[in-house]
Amino acid sequence: MGIIQNLRDSMSDNSSSTFTVQGILVECSHCGHTQFKKREGQLNTAGLTFLNLDWADRSAVVLVCTNCGKLEWFLID
Ligand SMILES: [Zn+2]
Repeated sequence: MGIIQNLRDSMSDNSSSTFTVQGILVECSHCGHTQFKKREGQLNTAGLTFLNLDWADRSAVVLVCTNCGKLEWFLID
């Protein structure tokens, strides 16, 4: 069972959308905006290996707030 059970997004990766994680609408922790763009990647890239985290080989979904640009990270098992 993954952390993200109900992640959904629009048809295009370039368009913003709302997302739900475990049934809860994702809101920006900074500005409260609910429109995000989704990016996916490995946590062991992009200079994050210095964190030396044991879950660093998991995939991550990054939601970028389209209002203020804050990044919200979610791990996928
Ligand atoms: Zn924001």
